[in-house]
Amino acid sequence: RTILLNNQMIQAEDAHIHIEDRGFQFGDGIYEVIKVYNGSLFTIKEHIDRFYTCAEKLQIVIPYTKDLLHKMLYDLVEENELEVGHVYMQITRGVASRTHFFPSDVAPTFVAYTQQGDRPLQNLQRGVRTIFDEDIRWLRCDIKSLNLLGAVLSKQKAHEQGCYEAILHRDGVITEGSSSNIFGIKDGVLYTHPVNNYILNGITRHVLLQCCEEIGLPVVEEAMTCERALEMDELLLTSTTSEVTPIIEVDCHPIADGLPGEWTRRLQQAFELKVKTAVMM
Ligand code: PLP
Repeated sequence: RTILLNNQMIQAEDAHIHIEDRGFQFGDGIYEVIKVYNGSLFTIKEHIDRFYTCAEKLQIVIPYTKDLLHKMLYDLVEENELEVGHVYMQITRGVASRTHFFPSDVAPTFVAYTQQGDRPLQNLQRGVRTIFDEDIRWLRCDIKSLNLLGAVLSKQKAHEQGCYEAILHRDGVITEGSSSNIFGIKDGVLYTHPVNNYILNGITRHVLLQCCEEIGLPVVEEAMTCERALEMDELLLTSTTSEVTPIIEVDCHPIADGLPGEWTRRLQQAFELKVKTAVMM
């Protein structure tokens, strides 16, 4: 497998990360996951923009222009002959003797690699089971930080219960999923948490809101309580890899009749059309 380490394309086996890389010791960095359909990077501009915005929030300077990064990622996909899967990229503050404050004169470490992987067709079709879990993460969830322990612990809890995702809440108010954004539909209106420091501003969330407009589904960016979520007609989640996935159960309570709903199906179709037109499948 060919990967990118800084701006060099090398074999994965030849890549070395220093033991004092701040990504390794502090999780001091950020990442992105970009879906590849038909050899094409879906919503790549939005992902690159978010990568730069998040880096700025940490005062990490990405040493490439956006155009160069775009080209580097496409070259990587081509080199690995990736058709369907994703690109993972991350940047850390770099290597420095271990102190918490930002070291001076440090060069960031950039890594990107491709991962083959089919679309989650079964989940898209049947929907997934979920659990509620307390959102124990920090107060800057708008940063796509490498620190994922809160998400890891919640996802593990869901996994142990045979569920796909943990729906996180702060004092009974739903923020987002451990690695997804969450939406509810009631009486022909879609509800989702507003964009602020409690959630990641998902690129797929943004695409979904465009789909809502296209199919005439009004959107209210207002958080749901867990109680209210259970009374929704439909629940769904979005992420780069999960796309638009119906949620059919939370904590063993079926949502409505326990089957993916009509609006969700229409949103999935609108999403599919966007994928197809973006990548000319
Ligand atoms: N929220 C969290 C916490 C995530 O980790 C992710 C993606 O991994 C998302 C939301 C969805 O974001 P996107 O649609 O940009 O993949």
